[in-house]
Amino acid sequence: MLLLGVCSARGQTKITEYEYISLPYELDALEPAISRRTMALHYGQHLRSYVENLNRLIKGTALEGETLEDVVLMAEGPLLNNAGQTLNHNLYFLQFSPEGGGEPSGSLKRAIVHRWGSVENFRLAMEEAARTLFGSGWVWLAADVAGNLYILQEPNASNPVRYELQPLLGFDVWEHAYYLDYENRRGDHIHALWQVVDWPVVEKRYENN
Ligand code: MN
Repeated sequence: MLLLGVCSARGQTKITEYEYISLPYELDALEPAISRRTMALHYGQHLRSYVENLNRLIKGTALEGETLEDVVLMAEGPLLNNAGQTLNHNLYFLQFSPEGGGEPSGSLKRAIVHRWGSVENFRLAMEEAARTLFGSGWVWLAADVAGNLYILQEPNASNPVRYELQPLLGFDVWEHAYYLDYENRRGDHIHALWQVVDWPVVEKRYENN
């Protein structure tokens, strides 16, 4: 999440500004799972606001300069909300590709089958968690340091790093993520997202855990 870094007294690179990420695909590339109109609002306005608020709110606090993950682990209140939503949306937008879909492979697939019995059962469990999350929030596939997998239902801006788990795949169930395209049919939107999941990205997050 580094845009501009300077060296601290400890020799570590400190973050002086949290980045508004660029997308590796066009705004209409994920249609019909996510429309151009939703991307323009969600990426172009919601994420931009979260990043701007994060950079404004963190100035002069004890957390200034920490990695985005550490800010999300330690912050509370409005700073947590905006840092959490910045991290969440960075993970979200970068886990999709117009060439996505299909199935996971390698060690991630083995861990999914070990935990849920099959990739299809895992998909159904993620969809069920997304459908039944009350209000705004996120559903996450996350891993612990031993490689065990979990599905988490998190309210608002929370992220698995709050529990020192590694976030692998996140589905945004705030209404801004789907209402323009799917109205109240949250389950249909979540089901369509499998068409654009970039499994190699998710596998890398798991392998780097
Ligand atoms: Mn969102």
